[in-house]
Amino acid sequence: MSQQQASIFKRIGLFGGTFDPVHYGHLVLAECARYECELDRVIFIPSARPPHKHRETVLGENYRYEMVRLAIKDNPFFEVSKAEIDRPGYSYAIDTVRYFRFEYPEAEIYFITGLDALLDLKSWKDVGELIKLCRFITAVRPGFELKEDDERLKGLPAEFWRNLRVIEVPGLHISSTDLRYRIATGKPVRYLLPRPVEDYIREHGFYRE
Ligand code: ATP
Ligand code: MG
Repeated sequence: MSQQQASIFKRIGLFGGTFDPVHYGHLVLAECARYECELDRVIFIPSARPPHKHRETVLGENYRYEMVRLAIKDNPFFEVSKAEIDRPGYSYAIDTVRYFRFEYPEAEIYFITGLDALLDLKSWKDVGELIKLCRFITAVRPGFELKEDDERLKGLPAEFWRNLRVIEVPGLHISSTDLRYRIATGKPVRYLLPRPVEDYIREHGFYRE
């Protein structure tokens, strides 16, 4: 990306995740966020060493990166970044946001998360500063709502609430956990994730235990 190109972006969405593997739930969320919040780009950021995931066997980061690359290659608004993969230590959102603020000094930074991840926000590193550096976009499924008096979000500053965008996404019950389970037990995953990702998983024999 040239400096000139970067400077015309007004709004950048950062979408962090383990993506183990990436699936249509992620892609629909990213696309809805892009459209609803008029983002110029959505940058998928596979985490390298997620502090929150205690599962022992997360697939290697370069494989997870490659699956995201395959999944998004037909969408000109999407890109995938190695920002967390290339950074040593745990993958904290605050470091990632600082990095992209530096890369795109003119742009407003939006952090995209599902509601399950957002409800953990108070445990994120330097959350007070994080809220000052970016706005959050979160997704609720039709029929759910996010309440300001939710115990898990109580005490967050007014600024967080002012800047929060809550978008509706079609209710996708797809999760990576379920996909890994399906593959391990020989169930189909077709139509739950993009075909090139499915093929890549099969070729490498991932998740078969
Ligand atoms: P796992 O089951 O391993 O936790 P996951 O499917 O939740 O995987 P993550 O990589 O943990 O995927 O999620 C990255 C982000 O995408 C999180 O913010 C999560 O809330 C969001 N997300 C995951 N699945 C969906 C979905 N089906 N619809 C909307 N958002 C989703
Ligand atoms: Mg998850």
